[in-house]
Amino acid sequence: MDERRRLDYLGAMGVDVWVPRHVAAGPVERSDETALVEPALPLPGQAAPSSVPPYPQPGHPTPPVRAAAPQIVPNPVAPEPVASGSVEPDPSDGPSSPDPTKLDWDALATAVSGCRACGLRETRTNTVFGVGSRTADLLIIGEAPGADEDRAGEPFVGRAGQLLNRMLAAIGLAREQVYIANVLKCRPPGNRDPRPEEVKQCEAYLMRQIELLGPRAILCVGRVAAQHVLQTDAPLGSLRGRWLEFRAASIPLRVTYHPAYLLRSPDQKAKAWEDLVEVARRLREGVGTVIGKGNDKDQAD
Ligand code: SF4
Repeated sequence: MDERRRLDYLGAMGVDVWVPRHVAAGPVERSDETALVEPALPLPGQAAPSSVPPYPQPGHPTPPVRAAAPQIVPNPVAPEPVASGSVEPDPSDGPSSPDPTKLDWDALATAVSGCRACGLRETRTNTVFGVGSRTADLLIIGEAPGADEDRAGEPFVGRAGQLLNRMLAAIGLAREQVYIANVLKCRPPGNRDPRPEEVKQCEAYLMRQIELLGPRAILCVGRVAAQHVLQTDAPLGSLRGRWLEFRAASIPLRVTYHPAYLLRSPDQKAKAWEDLVEVARRLREGVGTVIGKGNDKDQAD
């Protein structure tokens, strides 16, 4: 990606950017959506965004080889009682039949498409399995499909998806170079939070996706996804801004804001940019220190 275009993406995220004189003097093609925010300044205590090398592209040196992902065990917590008004699980056709831990990518996708293990089977239009490269280094995990995703059968489409694409592009990654999945594969009606019994029924699918992918890093977007993946009730504010690890697999994990939240709260985009810079650095260098496990419950949001 050329410098001009990358700076446009940063501007589209709402991040104030420092624009090198030679770039600023070049031809500029702007749409209202991608216009740069000026005057431009680097973020406090951080090198200018333009100094962040993009993630290696085809033809460039590849990052360090990753180890095979260890087997990931679904959450052992017992299912919660079925909430009033929800539809009872149908165990005859749920994640345990066939066993997701034995399935390859295609068989897993087929199992999800026919899954009827929780009440969301009654209200979904499409299941939303996941999208992207099945050899990606970076896995992005969201909460659950929204209305656009339910219609399209693909995660992170619509305005929030477009912002996610621009966020990835800002660190040199195309949507096709990462893998994107949700905790839940079917849309909760009205975009309500997932219920514990739904997560319990659906979790084996995401665990198998992580196992098959063996990502070098995970980026959880939004509070709900982060809390479910990390098995914590800590507020998002205490989870982001540091490296955590994904359960026993010890995959480095970072938490950031959901793009839909960033659309409503553009003043938080600078923090999201900080998170993305760290993810890009981790992918590029393949080293770092895990400094927490995401279970600090006493920090302020
Ligand atoms: S949300 Fe998950 S467990 Fe529930 S029906 Fe959809 S795929 Fe099955």
